[in-house]
Amino acid sequence: MTAMRAAVLRGFERPFTVETVELLDLAPTRVLVRTKATPFCSTDVTSFHGRLGKVPPTILGHASTGEVVEVGSLVRGIEVGQRVVVPGTPECGHCFYCGIGRPDQCSELFDIGGVYPDVARTSDGLLVNAAGCVGGYAEIMNVSQNQAFPVETDLPWQVLSLLGCGITTGVGAVLNVARVRPDEVVAVVGAGHVGLWAVQAARLAGAREVVAVDPKEERRRVATSVGATQAVRPEDALEAVRGLTQGRGADKVIEAAGPAAAQRLALEISRRAGTVVLSGLKDAAGEVTLPQIPLAVHSRRVISTQNGNVRMRRDLPAYIRLLERGALDPAPIITASYRLDDINTTLERSERLEDLSGVFVF
Ligand SMILES: [Zn+2]
Ligand SMILES: [Zn+2]
Repeated sequence: MTAMRAAVLRGFERPFTVETVELLDLAPTRVLVRTKATPFCSTDVTSFHGRLGKVPPTILGHASTGEVVEVGSLVRGIEVGQRVVVPGTPECGHCFYCGIGRPDQCSELFDIGGVYPDVARTSDGLLVNAAGCVGGYAEIMNVSQNQAFPVETDLPWQVLSLLGCGITTGVGAVLNVARVRPDEVVAVVGAGHVGLWAVQAARLAGAREVVAVDPKEERRRVATSVGATQAVRPEDALEAVRGLTQGRGADKVIEAAGPAAAQRLALEISRRAGTVVLSGLKDAAGEVTLPQIPLAVHSRRVISTQNGNVRMRRDLPAYIRLLERGALDPAPIITASYRLDDINTTLERSERLEDLSGVFVF
């Protein structure tokens, strides 16, 4: 039995307890990864309040990175000592969705009925699961071999940790889903830990103008520093994109905010026959209402995406090269480093939108 420290959510809206737990035995197809860095994701604010269907006691933290310390007897292609990215989504390679080239919907995550694997036991005998099959708010992760992707790079751990959620969602939404073309006018609704990557990717793809939309002045300032040609408040977004497009609206809009109002705004600022990509999630029971004329008569493409529709084996090396040569810049987005013991403070700061990406380092 191996002991580790983990931030356990023992009940909704109860403070995390950072405690020593015993890891369960390693199954033959799983690997143990010593956690090096895990970003605190705003999704976990939603999970904390019980609005995403996670069941305590659980270890949150759905994307991470670390070093492999043990592999199960049937694991192939992963070795002890390798650096791995542990993204929010596995790629089993043999389910229906992996078979059609859409591992972002892999059955290993989405067809398990929301019952996540137990990975540890508390000192008072409770089984603890790893929410989202990752459990990155702990010193060691017990993950499927299909959810650990070896990488060869000298990038810092904190940067690698963002490759499982923020970077993949933001960059993938632009390159894989919206497929931004040179000279297009792109708007990004929400300049947070996903939107700021979308802004950078849109510039990389050759967009003529990138309009970032966010109510927070500080976030608009960062958006400008990473390549937005304009950064505006939501109430000014329509006028801004119209001013750049002879009144038409943006060719492509990426929504990376969550609230239904932001998703509706994304539609409103797109042009006729334009493309709208929705990626945000505020609440598992949330709904969004969209007007019919812009859809039925004006022929927009409204698409949604989970994790940027990435295929990790194809896209991860490409995104790493972009980071290595400075074409994608993490510096303005990693705004704080934390210790696991800080988790309750980190949660409060995330809830108040005070961090872009606050990263736990181990
Ligand atoms: Zn996330
Ligand atoms: Zn699969």
